[in-house]
Amino acid sequence: MPRTEREPKTGPKGILSTVGGTPLVELERLIPGFASRVFAKMERFNPGGSVKDRSALNMVAARIRSGELVPGRSTVIESSSGNLAIGLAQICGYYGLRLVCVVDSRTTRQNIAILRAYGAEVEIITEPDPATGQLLPARLHRVAELVAATPHAYWPDQYANPLNRQAHHTTMQEIDLALDGKVDQLVVAAGTSGTLGGCADYIRHHRLGTTLNAVDALGSALFGPPAPCTRLVPGHGASIAPRLLRPGDADRVVHVGDLDCVVGCRTLVRREAILAGGSSGAVVAALARLAPAIPPGSNVVIVLPDGGDRYLDTIYDDTWVRRHFGDVTHLWDQPPAPAPAAGQLADIAQ
Ligand code: PMP
Repeated sequence: MPRTEREPKTGPKGILSTVGGTPLVELERLIPGFASRVFAKMERFNPGGSVKDRSALNMVAARIRSGELVPGRSTVIESSSGNLAIGLAQICGYYGLRLVCVVDSRTTRQNIAILRAYGAEVEIITEPDPATGQLLPARLHRVAELVAATPHAYWPDQYANPLNRQAHHTTMQEIDLALDGKVDQLVVAAGTSGTLGGCADYIRHHRLGTTLNAVDALGSALFGPPAPCTRLVPGHGASIAPRLLRPGDADRVVHVGDLDCVVGCRTLVRREAILAGGSSGAVVAALARLAPAIPPGSNVVIVLPDGGDRYLDTIYDDTWVRRHFGDVTHLWDQPPAPAPAAGQLADIAQ
């Protein structure tokens, strides 16, 4: 991962050559009166629409190069709630690889339609794992069954595959190069922790001095035992601790709830005209909490993992929002509430 120059584009061709290289946009209106600069890494500009295109491409292309994946013979099988599956569907479609996606009943109809449009096969899990009551372990169990029963199957296993993590060296490299090495704070949503871990690797390797803030969901098991609560917004958070996550990846963890995500998304679109997905709202909410403790004059980068188009029936639907949270529109019609003192944040020394 060289720091001074972009890697030559010798790899993927066609539409896949547009994965990565996403814009970094300065947000001057998001936090009125904030004495630091805020930049957003706009991962929706990847061709499949999310940050997960980087992981999907890295996990598949390496296996094609090594000869382990052969178009017409191999089958890729993966569990994904949406974005990784869409990234894989595009990549497998391009290379002519069969793809079976194991999703669950929370996956939107639109995402399932997108997967099928790319030619992927979709299996929907509706019954949670009896031991944990969670859908994710049930999905992983089904993937293991399919892999065992399918000749020449490849399970990328995004929760444990180092290629997922490695895919995000470029995410951080692009940010570093765009800001000439001055990245004081990075705020990243964590699910598999691929984005977080890949950025952490780059930051530590190049001794950037960047404070890495991970954003997790309330009710997630990523950074310790979960607080008991249900999660409505997909993307960030996980019901298992991923093998990919390493101690020390995050300097600080901020936990946010579903309503925080909605308020973050609605504030972002109100103030910056950026229609972003639920985990982007989580990142915006986390930034609002972190802001008072950030030294003035800092460069702060937030990673926005996907766009809002796939959340029109939920986060951007007033009826859905009222049903789950009551009448809360005043929360984004007003200036941000004063943030808690820095000591109230979940600082962790992993
Ligand atoms: N946000 C969204 C919208 C996602 O789809 C994901 C991946 N599930 C994440 C955040 C978390 O990214 P990562 O898997 O790299 O931790």
